[in-house]
Amino acid sequence: MREYGIVVLGAGGVGKSALTARFVKGEFPEHYNPTIEEQYQREIEVSGEPISLDILDTAGAEQFTALNEVYITSGHGFLLVFSLTDEASLRNLDNIRQQILHIKGDESDIPIVIVGTKQDLYTEREVTRQTIQEYTTRWGLPLYETSAKKNWHVKDVFEELTVRMRKRYPSP
Ligand code: GDP
Ligand code: MG
Repeated sequence: MREYGIVVLGAGGVGKSALTARFVKGEFPEHYNPTIEEQYQREIEVSGEPISLDILDTAGAEQFTALNEVYITSGHGFLLVFSLTDEASLRNLDNIRQQILHIKGDESDIPIVIVGTKQDLYTEREVTRQTIQEYTTRWGLPLYETSAKKNWHVKDVFEELTVRMRKRYPSP
């Protein structure tokens, strides 16, 4: 079975762990653990092919660390996560995106998906669809709005990234 490594990056508190837990365990975590870093394994089927995903939920990437550099070097695909309730967390993704491009060097078409979280928090929403599209169009990256709590579009995010990894790295 083909196996790909996914790295989940974004500022602290945006919902990286909730998104990952929803996909891997099928549940929304009750207890908020802000710093823990975890690695998970899950299979996904894309175009009839079962694929093994190795998912690293990082502790947060506001400051760029040597550890993140190691993760990025070894990862095949990246989820860049921000909260729809926090515009700064979207802006912050540009740094992470540039670090990935820098570390991956000459590689083109690096599989990256932008993920807006907490879509269910309508009244706290700070970022309009138009603002997000200005960023993602400039970056040339796909965007998904999700809710880990309500399980909206979570699987779509992992599917989209897997399709891109499979295309970019036919033999990982
Ligand atoms: P991380 O630091 O990026 O891993 O963020 P967490 O996944 O730990 O989530 C931070 C906080 O946001 C927690 O209190 C979560 O319960 C909450 N949260 C995460 N995702 C959602 C969501 O989709 N909807 C709502 N309402 N809250 C969320
Ligand atoms: Mg976390």
